[in-house]
Amino acid sequence: MTERVYNFAPGPAVLPEPVLAQAQCDLMALPDVGASILEISHRSQAFREIIEAAEANLRNLLAIPDHYAVLFLQGGSRLQFSMIPMNLLTPEQPSADYLISGSWGKHAYKEAKKFGPMQRAWDGGDSSYRQLPEDADLQRNPEAAYFHFTSNETIQGVQFATEPEVGEVPLVCDASSDFLHRPLPIERYGLIYACAQKNAGPAGVTLVIVRKDLLARSRDNLPIYLNYNAQAEAGSLMNTAPTFAIYIVRLVTAWLLHEIGGLECMHQRNRAKAQMLYEVIDHSGDFYQGHARPQDRSLMNVVFRLPTEELTQKFVAQAQERGMTSLAGHRSVGGIRASIYNAMPPAGVEALRDFMLKFQDKNS
Ligand code: PMP
Repeated sequence: MTERVYNFAPGPAVLPEPVLAQAQCDLMALPDVGASILEISHRSQAFREIIEAAEANLRNLLAIPDHYAVLFLQGGSRLQFSMIPMNLLTPEQPSADYLISGSWGKHAYKEAKKFGPMQRAWDGGDSSYRQLPEDADLQRNPEAAYFHFTSNETIQGVQFATEPEVGEVPLVCDASSDFLHRPLPIERYGLIYACAQKNAGPAGVTLVIVRKDLLARSRDNLPIYLNYNAQAEAGSLMNTAPTFAIYIVRLVTAWLLHEIGGLECMHQRNRAKAQMLYEVIDHSGDFYQGHARPQDRSLMNVVFRLPTEELTQKFVAQAQERGMTSLAGHRSVGGIRASIYNAMPPAGVEALRDFMLKFQDKNS
């Protein structure tokens, strides 16, 4: 078998090895089916069992109450940037609040503005999105249709450790890059969405958890695929669902439940992994400079710079030679970004930590 690297890609990203092994094993034929997941109908009994198991695992992991629907949609998180205002704005509440803590929040806000007069509740652009606000910093409109925030900014590496306080206004969260990394108090949210390709599965499916009373806001004249209520009524099977992606979500969620031991354990493991890298950064003098303010650092995307562009390129190239790939930062921020999602094994982070220490030794 070809040897695997430690893949620090921001997404699509590393998947748990037991998941890949199971998928490989099932790819010729699913047990009792005789055909692979790629070849069966989304309306078959076998697939129904798969999507139901994926949903049951998600409900179990996050303790999702019955008054929330779980949807499996396509179009990525980008489509949610549009579906959210299309479905949740109403004639009585034509505006929503957006907390902009990085590039993705900015994209979401820009898209939402096409549907109504959105309000920026906070924008960290002046500090290059290095820090998050306190609740008291938020300019909230109590009449807003919803309040949108991005729990983890994948590019800048800033992450909310807890939810912002927004009173009675439904809280809407883009959890694309930290979904399932910790337990969530679901009842604090009106809607949570996450494309699967970072922490929950492969590209092709986006998970939406939505409080059922909000479904009444979806107007009948919306394009039917973009209507949350219609999607919930169809059990996410209005049209041909992304069957393979949903099958992998089922395997990833089963791995979280049965091999990791649930989200509390996952969170602990994620904290320990991130700490290994932040400790190197903090003890490096100024050799490694973290992008985010320490209290707002992400457990998922560790973003830092080296003293020069030349050293940055050398770092990426030498890491690659040692089997650690996709470490170059996003072009808008530069530097290094180590994405260490749930499926990145602690051994991968240890390897990176050791490399960082040696690299500094040789180059400072
Ligand atoms: N939001 C966040 C926080 C993301 O990291 C991404 C993808 N990098 C997106 C939204 C967009 O997701 P997609 O490519 O699935 O549309």
